[in-house]
Amino acid sequence: MSANNALHIAVLAGDGIGPEVMAPALEVLRKIEATTDLKFRFTEAPAGANNYRETGKSMPESTIRLCDEADAILLGACGLPSVRYPDNTEIMPQVELRFHFDLYAGVRPARLIPGVPSPIVGADQRGIDLIVIRESTEGLFASMGKGVVTDTEARETLVITRKTSERLFEFSFRLAERRKARGRPGQLTCVDKANVFKAFAFFREMFDDAAKRHPDVKTDRLYVDACSALLVKRPWDFDVMVMENMFGDILSDMTAGLIGGMGMAPSADIGDRHAVFQPCHGTAPDIMGQGKANPTGMILSAAMMLDWLADKHGLESAAEAGERIERAVDKAYADGIKPMEFGGGNGTADIAKAVLAAL
Ligand code: ATP
Ligand code: MG
Repeated sequence: MSANNALHIAVLAGDGIGPEVMAPALEVLRKIEATTDLKFRFTEAPAGANNYRETGKSMPESTIRLCDEADAILLGACGLPSVRYPDNTEIMPQVELRFHFDLYAGVRPARLIPGVPSPIVGADQRGIDLIVIRESTEGLFASMGKGVVTDTEARETLVITRKTSERLFEFSFRLAERRKARGRPGQLTCVDKANVFKAFAFFREMFDDAAKRHPDVKTDRLYVDACSALLVKRPWDFDVMVMENMFGDILSDMTAGLIGGMGMAPSADIGDRHAVFQPCHGTAPDIMGQGKANPTGMILSAAMMLDWLADKHGLESAAEAGERIERAVDKAYADGIKPMEFGGGNGTADIAKAVLAAL
């Protein structure tokens, strides 16, 4: 926090629909600023495929420096199918940020907002309110760019370390405890494949050790395959779930599907000191520039940012503001907002207007 107590927010709008969903999220935060004692200082900075095309840099050093100094980082989405690095890999500065700032905990809540259609029968009655915590710096992704391919075979490596796993589990148990304090079950499920791979048995062992230090959190262990079936049959049985990078990548897209679509899902990548908040979705080039993008996930990511800042700096008013944003989003949907994303008639501007009005 700077001298005048303003929270300094690095704003990386990115590519595609990134800037389209960022604008309403910033409007929401400005409204929070106008109606609370919270103060923000927003600094926008370039990152992504468009910037790479223009300057040869997808994540300029100046942007990294800004992110390092800021209290939190808000990110739209980055990367475009038409712009790639010379070796033909995708431009993913969001992944660079994860590794650079060691943001090991990828937090992906999936809460079904009343009034939003879920593909799961019974979900409108039972509700869905779970969080996937995806380890975000190792697992199968530790192999990124290092895989070995010959004419006859290809190999990648799965890495699980004690250092990262222990921090990940501490974070996960703490989150489950905070949820419990807010009236959720406070149950933590470890998702792995410990029956087949030694690396996952190691993962589970460390989970069990952490569980001993947090006896007030109910724990559960599931193999990822069985877990997938349960997630679509009884998603309301889950509270907080923690898993390896690749499993989290896949299951968090699925849980976003359970709550109505990619545009609904917020996320956070959290480390010991830094954190990036961005919607789960990508740049969605198929709908960019048409005013169709659903900004809900981005707005809810801004709410998560306030909650994280509240926890970090002991700012009660930031926690309240985060909850206020969630309630405003709920009210917009209760009042009948239907995003084009799932067949309704409301585009970005309508959704933004409804949330701002509800605030
Ligand atoms: P990434 O590789 O970055 O994850 P992706 O190829 O998985 O990207 P997304 O950009 O996440 O793709 O989008 C998948 C599809 O979901 C898009 O083609 C788009 O139609 C839809 N979509 C994603 N985000 C939104 C949104 N905010 N509003 C409406 N539709 C969206
Ligand atoms: Mg994707």
